Amino acid sequence: AKEVYTALRDLPAETLDGTRLNLMMNAGLMADLPSLGTCGAEGVGLYRTELQFLVRSSVPRRSDQAGFYSRVLDAAKGKRVIFRTLDIGSDKVLPYMKRQEEPNPALGWRAIRVGLDRRGVMRMQLQALLRGAKGRPLSVMFPFVAQLDEFETAREMLLSEVESERAHGRVVPESLEIGAMLETPSLAFAPDEFFRLTDFISIGGNDLKQFFFAADRENERVRRRYDTLNVSFLTFIEMIVKRCEAFDVPLSFCGEDAGRPIEALAFAAMGLRSLSMRPASIGPVKRLLRSVDLSAARQVIDSARRSGTQSVRPALSAWLTAQNA
Ligand code: PEP
Ligand code: MG
Repeated sequence: AKEVYTALRDLPAETLDGTRLNLMMNAGLMADLPSLGTCGAEGVGLYRTELQFLVRSSVPRRSDQAGFYSRVLDAAKGKRVIFRTLDIGSDKVLPYMKRQEEPNPALGWRAIRVGLDRRGVMRMQLQALLRGAKGRPLSVMFPFVAQLDEFETAREMLLSEVESERAHGRVVPESLEIGAMLETPSLAFAPDEFFRLTDFISIGGNDLKQFFFAADRENERVRRRYDTLNVSFLTFIEMIVKRCEAFDVPLSFCGEDAGRPIEALAFAAMGLRSLSMRPASIGPVKRLLRSVDLSAARQVIDSARRSGTQSVRPALSAWLTAQNA
């Protein structure tokens, strides 16, 4: 199978009826970057910057961070990298950061909430990203945005750092895209202003799904209880797609489900055109997408939804099996 995927590497992720998907990879350590050249991803759709912080014993200095981000961009050789600012708290705890015990860490002080309350750490990271870019295009995304003002504030912080770099005569990125991760259902219903302000949105499906179904992603007893192909969830994804389309906001999906071929197909049928996944999933997802007629898959999903089923998985899998027969 490995050879099959290698042969697919330079072919587009295009369905039989001509819909092209943008497949990106998720990364978080320097060691992930070589995969970018070999797995067929068009860029890095999610760069989890906190991993570099988690493997150290203290907050990395700004210059170390900048050097690191710069090397990531060097290794990407001009392909787009979307850097996610620190997503700590919940399942990712920095040993050197003082924090109080929380009864519900997943619902607690995490990600952008920490960044907005500890501005020094966030500002330092934003400066390091701007300097690491060394004039190259830069994409930054903020994790776990739950409402408009969090995004507004974080975005303003980044823009004011750009101004200050410029004022100090330093080179700034030739282009800057500022996006948000949609990981809480609330953001899907945010005021229009949010969709006007953001340059792109990435659905963090791991978190979004846990909050949508109120099922802890870390809890073995419940984590697999609700199917991603549950019609409620797919319909919600479709709603997000439509809202983004109305404002011309590029949307992608970067949770683990994007790397599962049937899930990826269902997301594509709901209108998603960009998926970010672990490198090893690119081949299998591309292979499936290239073998199907997307509008036919969409009809299968729609008729399953009309029939009142809870999940479209049985119908979609049966259809896929029949296709390959
Ligand atoms: C997600 O929540 O889907 C996501 C991509 O972020 P993480 O898994 O790092 O929380
Ligand atoms: Mg997340």
